[in-house]
Amino acid sequence: MYDFTIIGGGIIGLSTAYSLKKAYPRAKISVMEKESTLASHQTGRNSGVIHSGVYYKPGSLKARMAKQGSASMVEFCKEHGIDHDVCGKVLVATHEEELPRMDALYERVQQNKINVTKIGREGLLEIEPHVNGLAALKVPTTGIVNYKQVTEKLASLITEAGVDLFLDTKVKNIEEVKEEVVIDTNRGSFKTGFLINCAGLHSDRLVEMAHIHTDIKIVPFRGEYFTLADEKRHLVKGLIYPIPNPAFPFLGVHLTRMIDGSVHAGPNAVLSLKREGYHKTAFSPKDTFDVLTYPGFWKMAGANLQEGWKEMVRSFHKKTFVKSLQRLVPDIQPDDVIPAKAGVRAQAMLKDGRLVDDFQIIPGKRSIHVCNAPSPAATASLEIGKEIVKQIPVPRQIKVG
Ligand SMILES: Cc1cc2nc3c(=O)[nH]c(=O)nc-3n(C[C@H](O)[C@H](O)[C@H](O)COP(=O)(O)OP(=O)(O)OC[C@H]3O[C@@H](n4cnc5c(N)ncnc54)[C@H](O)[C@@H]3O)c2cc1C
Repeated sequence: MYDFTIIGGGIIGLSTAYSLKKAYPRAKISVMEKESTLASHQTGRNSGVIHSGVYYKPGSLKARMAKQGSASMVEFCKEHGIDHDVCGKVLVATHEEELPRMDALYERVQQNKINVTKIGREGLLEIEPHVNGLAALKVPTTGIVNYKQVTEKLASLITEAGVDLFLDTKVKNIEEVKEEVVIDTNRGSFKTGFLINCAGLHSDRLVEMAHIHTDIKIVPFRGEYFTLADEKRHLVKGLIYPIPNPAFPFLGVHLTRMIDGSVHAGPNAVLSLKREGYHKTAFSPKDTFDVLTYPGFWKMAGANLQEGWKEMVRSFHKKTFVKSLQRLVPDIQPDDVIPAKAGVRAQAMLKDGRLVDDFQIIPGKRSIHVCNAPSPAATASLEIGKEIVKQIPVPRQIKVG
């Protein structure tokens, strides 16, 4: 019998196990992951950016945790010798009409108390000589890292501290009974005092298994990337982002130097017909049925037809994708980019069609469920782990144990 069991071997599950073990060194803790390797899904398929918290609504969990989380992520990397680089980023206004949006973003950044400076065209060209821009916001605290490496380090720290890590272990049913939670998996049943659901793209299904009623459905949005040919990498020095449209903050492809030196372009955002579907043709009847029969999906789709269509075109038509990149760096040509591995975002949606904006952590009786942890959750992961530990009502015997 475990004191705590965490479902999900992504960065949120591992950060939570790390925080729990620190808070309760003598507790018996297990982590269950259905794949044979850690970080197989969102954590291993993202842009690798340590976000500073520029975009997020002041007072939100995202704003607070991105700011604290970027600092704790950099600290963690330094302490454990993980390659990272606080290279800074520029958010570039390429057209006149983006200047008021840039100013509005600058105001928000002031409210979030993040160190950002406005720079003109000349200042921008000193940082990114190949960018086409009228002005920009320079964010010096943004960085890059490989989150899979962070997750693997967390795994080695927790297993050394005595946490049991089960790979190839898929949770199939959860039963909260009087004094414990019974978890059925493909490798038999386990008992635990408390369960923490960090199952990313499947988190809503685990909530249902635990018989907790929520209004939430995970809708998978694939983010497709290109990588810049080696001989064109010099066109991008660090991180080049567009000024986001506040109505669609997660849209807008950017150029990202990765920690291995490669340069990624993307991601776009297209509905995926499979939760773990990394190719354009990926299809799961169950996942598709789930989305198409959810009333919220049709409300969201109806309200965002134009943007949705643009993203689809960008997905199937390389030249259109490259055009969005040329807005930022005009010298990039279609032959300079090669398709790279995609990721799928686990975005929670409500029945009325709204996308859940902030991180969402839902308590059960003997469980806690991380139901919305999209970007910047990798940045914020160490803080999310600490927050979950704070929210767990720990039985007395563990506190003193
Ligand atoms: C395209 C893209 C770009 C992004 N860019 C950034 C970025 O630059 N910076 C940033 O901070 N964030 C970024 N993010 C967000 C970030 O990657 C995620 O917020 C973070 O990885 C979420 O971690 P997780 O542990 O919740 O999910 P995951 O990494 O998806 O882990 C969940 C795990 O649960 C397991 N699981 C599911 N169901 C079961 C089950 N029944 N039994 C056992 N195991 C199960 C899965 O196999 C999976 O390994 C990006 C995301 C995407 C998709």
